Amino acid sequence: MVRILVNGYGTIGKRVADAVSLQKDFELIGIAKTKPDFEAKLAIEKGYSIFCSIDKNIDLFKKEGLDVGKLEEALDDVDVVIDGTPDGIGAQNKIMYQKIKKKAIFEGGEEADIGVSFVAQCNYDKAINAPYIRCVSCNTTGLCRTLGALQGFGIEKVSATLIRRSADPNDIKTGPINALVPDVEIPSHHAEDVQTVLPISNIMTIAIKAPTTLMHVHSLTVELNEKQNEDTIIDTFKNTTRIRLVNVKDGIKSTAHIMESARDMGRKRGDMYEICIWQDSIKIKGNTLYYLQAIHQESNVVPENIDAVRAMLNLDSRDESIKKTNKSLGII
Ligand code: NAP
Repeated sequence: MVRILVNGYGTIGKRVADAVSLQKDFELIGIAKTKPDFEAKLAIEKGYSIFCSIDKNIDLFKKEGLDVGKLEEALDDVDVVIDGTPDGIGAQNKIMYQKIKKKAIFEGGEEADIGVSFVAQCNYDKAINAPYIRCVSCNTTGLCRTLGALQGFGIEKVSATLIRRSADPNDIKTGPINALVPDVEIPSHHAEDVQTVLPISNIMTIAIKAPTTLMHVHSLTVELNEKQNEDTIIDTFKNTTRIRLVNVKDGIKSTAHIMESARDMGRKRGDMYEICIWQDSIKIKGNTLYYLQAIHQESNVVPENIDAVRAMLNLDSRDESIKKTNKSLGII
């Protein structure tokens, strides 16, 4: 059994902790938080052990009657730490993990040099035995999964416009609530980030924040080496793991409908781990392919975090790990 601690139990960390506890080959040693809020109390109700990541805050937990240990002490007993703390905190934590020689997985809010940038189906083998892995951001993971599927056709050039959700559903800190906010830094950081995973030399990304919490939507234009027909592309996406084709003709007209379908599927927290491509949007003109895809930012990187553990410990091949992870999360 691989002994895992999840440091940071927010949007990503709580989903990853639940996914860890579903794996037959993993054991969740506990989760770490800084404060004794409702998420801490619910984690204890679930039977998770809690560790405090800021020593001076232990008394805050005690005052709430919560018995918690110190993160640093708990780390002695683990094989891998999955760090789901906010952007930049993971880099500070890496110093602590290095000191005690613990392997760690970081999230997409960290800089690329923190570890091997990882999307399981694209570059699993690069992460085998790596001490540190970065599961790239939700947007980059979404781009890499579908562009990775097209690599066999030869990609000449990619242009992607990303319409980004401006906050997560549980977030009251950010906006806008009534505006579209263009990111005037062009290309947005996603182009370079995709290149940390896939060898695509010509890629341009442009991002715009929109007042929604539900999902990101990407509009992609991909120049291929030679003309393909739409059915070939549809079959390729259909046969690629963690990609789901959805259809306007079935009533999936928006991100709201995708989220509703995830709830109807009985997915935990209504999560949609797969990148959803509107089949109706797949169009070919000459050598150029167009399609629209949606990314559930809260959950699409969860399977990557699980596969990253198996890669860094060289436990399974890419396909074996993906199969186990998919089965545990109900990804068909
Ligand atoms: P989040 O919801 O804000 O959760 C952060 C967690 O880290 C909380 O449990 C928090 O604990 C803990 N934490 C806060 N400050 C800390 C500190 N100084 N030291 C240790 N722990 C601390 O964050 P998130 O959205 O899950 O993002 C985590 C990472 O995933 C980031 O790198 C982000 O870029 C990446 N990511 C996010 C999304 C997304 O859509 N949210 C998607 C893909 C990747 P307390 O609540 O107890 O303070």
